[in-house]
Amino acid sequence: MSLDPSKPQASAEEGVSRERAAALFEPERPPAVFHRPLLAEVFAHARECYPEECCGIMLGPPDGEPRQVVRCNNVQSVRHSKGESQLDAGHGFWIDEQEIERALRDAEQRGETLRVVYHSHIDTGAHLSQTDVESALGPEGAPLWPGVGHLVISVGDNGVQAVALFEWDSECGIYIGRQAREAD
Ligand SMILES: [Zn+2]
Repeated sequence: MSLDPSKPQASAEEGVSRERAAALFEPERPPAVFHRPLLAEVFAHARECYPEECCGIMLGPPDGEPRQVVRCNNVQSVRHSKGESQLDAGHGFWIDEQEIERALRDAEQRGETLRVVYHSHIDTGAHLSQTDVESALGPEGAPLWPGVGHLVISVGDNGVQAVALFEWDSECGIYIGRQAREAD
């Protein structure tokens, strides 16, 4: 059971097999609110990478709001060319492990931690796909990064269409999404 936060763009999808949403989206939940410059940075990144998916992280204090966006390189096309994945960078993302480790080491020195992993979806909804969920979960079926949200930005050639934040619900054992917006 799932819903996309934006209307599916079926006409752009013809001939392309898209992955289905694999997490619950609840549009009636109160939206997740982010500092305006953070979302602006993420949206700019998504537009600049189009028609490839962008990816990156948000850092912040463990119990506070995210303070900083760190853009990461999407190395999915490298994995695709090596035969490690069927998906290229237009259909998937992969953050280089060394890049994320370096960013997290720097964050730790400031008393900050990983709060959000973000990536964009090209001409499709801001859902969490089956691949997204699988790469977010460890072998035990629990999140690799407990407490870390997954922000998905739907971007088309007209710009950002929708944005949603997915967080792990340990009682239900699934990711549940809600809309995300800028602070007033
Ligand atoms: Zn995705």
